[in-house]
Amino acid sequence: MSKKLEDCVTTIPDFPKPGIMFRDITTIISDPEGFKMAVDQLCDMVKGMDIDIVVGSESRGFIFGAPVAYALGKGFVMARKKGKLPRETISETYDLEYGSATLEMHKDSIRPGMKVFLVDDLVATGGTTAAIIKMVEKLGGKVVKIGFVMELAGFDAKNKALKGYDVESLISYP
Ligand code: 5GP
Repeated sequence: MSKKLEDCVTTIPDFPKPGIMFRDITTIISDPEGFKMAVDQLCDMVKGMDIDIVVGSESRGFIFGAPVAYALGKGFVMARKKGKLPRETISETYDLEYGSATLEMHKDSIRPGMKVFLVDDLVATGGTTAAIIKMVEKLGGKVVKIGFVMELAGFDAKNKALKGYDVESLISYP
């Protein structure tokens, strides 16, 4: 039987805190078949769609987003942690389980009307992704597809934080 993407994910109980089942992508990307499956399947999500640019967030979103952009023949835009981007930025602060975080994008990275494919490794509440959507939309872009390698379906991000967007995941965990 051929290998499935799910087989390449390692689950670590109680990391980084008791009660959390951490889904580790390092074993996807260190496996040539696993990495190729993930990138190819993310690309398939936008087959036949009109996409101008791929956006990914620091840092695991870079690992999947950049090769997806390359394979699609598109550019890649980084949503980075606060203070890392050298030119004029737009920023969005969002809530984490404890405290908050800020992501930034270069103001000129998205031009009005651009159709965006947003890629990340995993969605839980959807808070990180919602912050990126806000920035893209403030810059005049349109998020036409959101692709995750994994979703933690119990958070129901598709019907909550990301309601109304075209969201797809390669692997779904409860
Ligand atoms: P959200 O903002 O959707 O609640 O959380 C998603 C973010 O948390 C993603 O950027 C993701 O990298 C990180 N994250 C949360 N839990 C996990 C996990 O179990 N595995 C991995 N790889 N990332 C996680």
